[in-house]
Amino acid sequence: MLKISTVIPYKLKPTVIAIYPGSFDPITLGHLDIIERGSKLFDRVVVAVLRNPGKAPLFTVEQRLCQIRTATKHLPQVEADSFDGLTVAYANLIGAKVLLRGLRVLSDFEKELQMAHTNKTLSTEIETVFLATSTEYGFLSSSIVKEIARFNGSIDHLVSPHVASEIYQCYNNPSIHS
Ligand code: ADP
Repeated sequence: MLKISTVIPYKLKPTVIAIYPGSFDPITLGHLDIIERGSKLFDRVVVAVLRNPGKAPLFTVEQRLCQIRTATKHLPQVEADSFDGLTVAYANLIGAKVLLRGLRVLSDFEKELQMAHTNKTLSTEIETVFLATSTEYGFLSSSIVKEIARFNGSIDHLVSPHVASEIYQCYNNPSIHS
């Protein structure tokens, strides 16, 4: 007897959009690792830079978007955008059902869990998905990168080359190679 499959054929499946929100000041190889792995799980990943007037960033939102677009140009399903206000409001606006976040250490977990629970109270439709950092990036943050560059250290192993040279320029760091 012919068995009728209840599995929805791939082509008819709805597109799952994930947003990866953050400051990305600047994007590091740790962020990039989460983006690359997220892009294998979801149809589209929108890297969403929060316009946060409360923070004094090193790079403008436009510079950060440009850095992200260059770093992810090998990933066709990844795009970059900026937003202000509530993350869930932006997710609803673009039809994203997933908030992608990265977890490094236990202290990330507390903050991220609180944020995920808060977002759930604002929108039950949106799920937060956490990806554990790859072990080699467990220590890495945008702040660490800026701190090293500020004291004339090399950050070539922590960020993409175009991002490294922009950071070196900001700090007049002699590690710069043009
Ligand atoms: P925010 O200000 O929202 O923390 P960040 O740009 O610092 O923005 O981080 C955005 C997201 O990326 C967060 O979920 C953070 O935990 C994650 N993240 C940052 N660095 C790494 C890393 N090295 N490995 C995995 N996830 C990371």
